[in-house]
Amino acid sequence: MARQSASSTSQHPLIANWTLHRWINRQALMPVVCLSFLLTFASTNVQAELPANANALKWYKAGQSFVKQQKRFTRGKKRAKNVILFVGDGMSITTVTASRIYEGQMNGANGEEHMLSFENFPHTALSKTYAVDRQVADSAPTATAMMTGVKTRFRTLGVDASASHGDCQNGHLRTLLESAEIKGLSTGFVTTTRATHATSAATFAHAIERDYESEGGGCADIAQQLIEFPFGDGLEVAMGGGRQMFIPVSEGGKRKDGRDLTAEWQAKYKGATYVTDTASLKSVDKNTDHLLGLFSDSHMSFSELRDQSPKGEPSLTEMTGKAIELLQKNRKGFFLMVEGGRIDHGHHAGIAKLALTETIEFSNAIRRATELVGSDTLIIVTADHSHTMTMAGYPRRGNPILGFAGRDANDRRYTTLTYANGPGHRDPTKEGVELDLSNTDTEAFDFKQAAAVPLRFETHGGEDVAIYASGPGSQWINGVMEQNVIFHVMNEALLGGK
Ligand SMILES: [Zn+2]
Repeated sequence: MARQSASSTSQHPLIANWTLHRWINRQALMPVVCLSFLLTFASTNVQAELPANANALKWYKAGQSFVKQQKRFTRGKKRAKNVILFVGDGMSITTVTASRIYEGQMNGANGEEHMLSFENFPHTALSKTYAVDRQVADSAPTATAMMTGVKTRFRTLGVDASASHGDCQNGHLRTLLESAEIKGLSTGFVTTTRATHATSAATFAHAIERDYESEGGGCADIAQQLIEFPFGDGLEVAMGGGRQMFIPVSEGGKRKDGRDLTAEWQAKYKGATYVTDTASLKSVDKNTDHLLGLFSDSHMSFSELRDQSPKGEPSLTEMTGKAIELLQKNRKGFFLMVEGGRIDHGHHAGIAKLALTETIEFSNAIRRATELVGSDTLIIVTADHSHTMTMAGYPRRGNPILGFAGRDANDRRYTTLTYANGPGHRDPTKEGVELDLSNTDTEAFDFKQAAAVPLRFETHGGEDVAIYASGPGSQWINGVMEQNVIFHVMNEALLGGK
């Protein structure tokens, strides 16, 4: 692995600031639309109905009403009262396209014309996701870029590229969640992975190694950092999986220091509630000041496969709704990060269906958020990095997205979705490998799409991902952006850039 020198890597924050300032200056020259309508996102969330047929006038009119809608959408105040960052872990553009088709087809339509809940947000951009030392990144430096405004090294969290092993102080970056706490706003995160996993950890933790979830290599581990969070009055909402990282080995957990951090959380805060299943989450009182929800030992279950009973795990949508309900009490505003964390895991397993159904649930959570907040909230939806899934062949319009695109050079059927690498590789020289998929159920939850390169786990992809934004500050989401600039947009909109 080629490592860049520290001097070349230290350029990044400056570039980011310069780019942001240029945008903001440009923005300041534009006439400010002062008409303030009490528009909620929900009321503008109705998308133009696109025709399924080739009627030119219908297509024309649908396009026309789309433009009208965008104009209404961008009215409102310039400063955001609240910011919600939605991170679809590994939600590549191909994932978005395939998921929208899948959801449309489940609604009985062709699918291609369908839109996920965030796809009609008025501002979009491309995000460059590379890390300081990698062309293709993992979730730790990418989440750090979005949370701190600084690109950093592979596998590191909340620290810059100068941080080193065994040093528990140097290179620590200030996260947006920390700044919001310092300013008296309410804060929180919701994820479907372990609460201590990379994306959610980047909102509150600082670690040279993302795996320091329950043991910190001589420094405070990530679970401990969540409970001992020193800024403001602490996070109001922390929800996800990963209970084992918070409880001692003697109680079935992973902690070797004997601490029960769930008990410490409850003792630390007045008005604190700790919940572990859907029923107890639903019964959380609106006046609760601090909510910790740990719904599974490790990652939460895939949305479609979870126990949906009251004793089971809540959906991402249910967690998001409860989080906003609690955070909205603060008149100063709030910052919330919501991660659809297992889109990534579906892809790593080489199972497109899991990634698609997780993306649809992620879209549902965003829809719920737009119903609960007003036009004073900046919502940014993006991915931390891509994956290697492609959508190809020449399937006819409306063809099942998890189905076959056609026949290959050997007259065998191949699927529309495939991966560049991963466990779905079928080696033709090996005995017993099923090369003809004609009798295979490609829509099953365990079907692995074909992969060109054999790997135990499919890898991340290095190309840009999309950013979708609405609300005050969303006008700054434009063009091709470095991923760390997303932080600067949120920071400017929420805290005036300070
Ligand atoms: Zn991943």
